[in-house]
Amino acid sequence: MIPFGYQRAENVDGAVATVSRNPNAAFLGGGTNLVDHLKLGVASPELLVDVTGLPLDRIEPLPDGGVRIGAGVRNSDLAADPTIRSRYPVLSQALLSGASGQLRNLATTGGNLLQRTRCGYFQDVSTPCNKRAPGSGCSAVDGYARYHAILGASQQCVAVHPSDMAVAMTALDAVALVQGPDGERRIPLVDFHRLPGDAPQRDTVLAHGELITAVDLPPLPAARRSRYRKVRDRASYAFALVSVAALVDVGGDIGGGTVRDARIALGGIAHKPWRATRAEEVLRGAPATEETFRRAADAELATAQPLPDNAFKVPLARNTLVSVLRDLTRISEKDR
Ligand SMILES: Cc1cc2nc3c(=O)[nH]c(=O)nc-3n(C[C@H](O)[C@H](O)[C@H](O)COP(=O)(O)OP(=O)(O)OC[C@H]3O[C@@H](n4cnc5c(N)ncnc54)[C@H](O)[C@@H]3O)c2cc1C
Repeated sequence: MIPFGYQRAENVDGAVATVSRNPNAAFLGGGTNLVDHLKLGVASPELLVDVTGLPLDRIEPLPDGGVRIGAGVRNSDLAADPTIRSRYPVLSQALLSGASGQLRNLATTGGNLLQRTRCGYFQDVSTPCNKRAPGSGCSAVDGYARYHAILGASQQCVAVHPSDMAVAMTALDAVALVQGPDGERRIPLVDFHRLPGDAPQRDTVLAHGELITAVDLPPLPAARRSRYRKVRDRASYAFALVSVAALVDVGGDIGGGTVRDARIALGGIAHKPWRATRAEEVLRGAPATEETFRRAADAELATAQPLPDNAFKVPLARNTLVSVLRDLTRISEKDR
């Protein structure tokens, strides 16, 4: 590991000023991703500014009925919070499907959003990777790509975003609050992460030195009926092959309901949490039937471009989405 400096941030403005004026400085959250990258040689900051002591560790109600989650809230605390469990179960389920208890005790909301891809080539500094070393090439495009993207990829990068939490937050229309040297801005999570294009080294729209201070969840009463399902190679301690975060609001007669609203995001299939807008369009106003769910899933996956190793992800994503929609609408019928 290359030597680096360490500072504890005393306030938000000071942390932002320190990191933004030093291109080789980075914020440190729980360290569960960044410290691994220091050891692997994937990242080599000269200064770490530890933001875990800042007063960003609260989960608070918002005047509009939504909830504000501080960027320093630990993944375990967020998953166990009674408000999150009852009003946004998809978020609690997503968090509990990720990593392990020990990791979740350390991992923070801000750090989770900014964790980097688990692409094996990105983590192996002996191989070319445009995300780690721009212009060096993508080893995965013609390499082993079982875990890689089927939607929105480019010739430059076929990596996927690994976060479960971010997929749930994307479905929930969450908004990230970000503090930079020029003030605060609010970034809808759906616009927060990027597709790779010609600049796969940039995971998000954040500028260097911008600190995530919180994530706001809108009130969304329909989110009480929401679900996260993650399909992976083993039952724990594994990243998603495919995941689905969904909430569905069905109105009308039992057994013959109409979808009033649907919000869906897919994980494990793209460089960013994938908001399934095409599926949502098919669902809204349509009868809540198996046939509608299949049409919605097909519409979303129509533009999928799998690689030879991961063609299985297309039917896997389709079947997982249909299954989650079926389960959610059964719940709706039972509860009416
Ligand atoms: C073995 C293992 C298995 C895992 N399995 C899963 C899984 O199944 N699902 C899943 O979703 N995740 C999984 N993870 C990843 C884990 O969730 C992340 O490592 C964790 O969420 C990162 O949070 P952190 O606070 O430790 O971030 P750090 O490692 O401290 O930081 C990560 C990045 O965020 C930046 N950063 C941190 N806080 C802020 C902030 N407030 N504002 C701006 N930038 C900030 C840092 O500079 C760094 O670039 C796994 C990790 C490991 C090691």
